[in-house]
Amino acid sequence: MPTRLTPREILEKLVGFPTVSRDTNLPLVDWVEDYLTSHGITAHRWVDPDQPHKAALFAHVGPLQEGAIVLSGHTDVVPVDGQPWTSDPFVLTERDGKLYGRGSTDMKGYDALAIWALVEAQTRGVKRPLQLALSFDEEVGCTGAPPMIQAMQSILPKGSAVIVGEPSMMRAVTGHKGGQGFWVDVWGHEVHSSLLHTGVNAIMEAAKVIDWTNTVNAQERARTPSDVAAMFDPPWTTLHVGLIEGGTAANITAKHCRFDLGFRTVPDDDPDDWRARIDAKLAEVEAAMQAVHPDARIEIARRFSLPGLHPEDNGEAEALVRAITGDNAGHVVSYGTEAGQFQDAGYSAVVCGPGDIAQAHQPDEFITLAQFAAGQDFMARLVTRLQEGQ
Ligand SMILES: [Zn+2]
Repeated sequence: MPTRLTPREILEKLVGFPTVSRDTNLPLVDWVEDYLTSHGITAHRWVDPDQPHKAALFAHVGPLQEGAIVLSGHTDVVPVDGQPWTSDPFVLTERDGKLYGRGSTDMKGYDALAIWALVEAQTRGVKRPLQLALSFDEEVGCTGAPPMIQAMQSILPKGSAVIVGEPSMMRAVTGHKGGQGFWVDVWGHEVHSSLLHTGVNAIMEAAKVIDWTNTVNAQERARTPSDVAAMFDPPWTTLHVGLIEGGTAANITAKHCRFDLGFRTVPDDDPDDWRARIDAKLAEVEAAMQAVHPDARIEIARRFSLPGLHPEDNGEAEALVRAITGDNAGHVVSYGTEAGQFQDAGYSAVVCGPGDIAQAHQPDEFITLAQFAAGQDFMARLVTRLQEGQ
């Protein structure tokens, strides 16, 4: 008889793998694959050819037919560098009714429950299939999920409803903002700062673009939001600059300045329109730079693009989560998840997972025993429904 682990024992294992996004997740993937295999479940990998030290893992339990419920989680976690932790972040530690560890909430708690549910479904036998999808690189722009989804669709019968287990306190989250992020490189022309009218200062030109984002944010804030946008906090699309570097010396007009520029769109704003607005602003600033020196220029390169999750009309995933949890309120969030990517790929999708997003990425990240138990209860009810063919 293969060893059956409890959700907590699985979580202990998962937290023990330091799968920070920049590092390998293969030891975790190996362990999950071995565990599933020991229960007669075939797991499949998608290895990123550009980063062969990372892989996604997916599996199918139940009749080999379309219409599975898909449990989707990410395996990577954010770094712990510089954070004051009371106990080892990679050792699951219980204190005061809470389980501490990096990823306990975001989102190895859900991963552990999903792995448990898959084995539960295999053991109990189900009339409707259940799938597991574990991605990587979620915390660095959700770049691992799209190729994983493609690979899943070519190997497994297509699932119909996806539950993405980002921490939502087990509430059904039916919408989230989309987002795109870019590197902007401003190339100026160096002269002594006493002659700055003959040079192009990349920092000062970048500042024009950055200050424009403040203006745009104020304009967006002043607009009357649509019904869908009004569900979000804040109920408008936001532009943000989070990183900047540049310059050589205090008395040289800066040759180069790089900053990141990102936006988070409410679902009825078109990201392409936002990209066009940014491009138009960059072109305007660049034209003024080139009027001083022809070599000056601005380059923009996309870092990531994440579709928003649009609330569905009578969505299957939402109805399923509501039927199990009894939660009938509408919830949307302003952070991005892989749910929008699944929805883009033709699935009904909802976000629902144990734990509070407020604990995510924090030092001393924890999940309460109560939330973890609520997650297990959810999974047990889900498997019962699948047994009944619902
Ligand atoms: Zn997450």
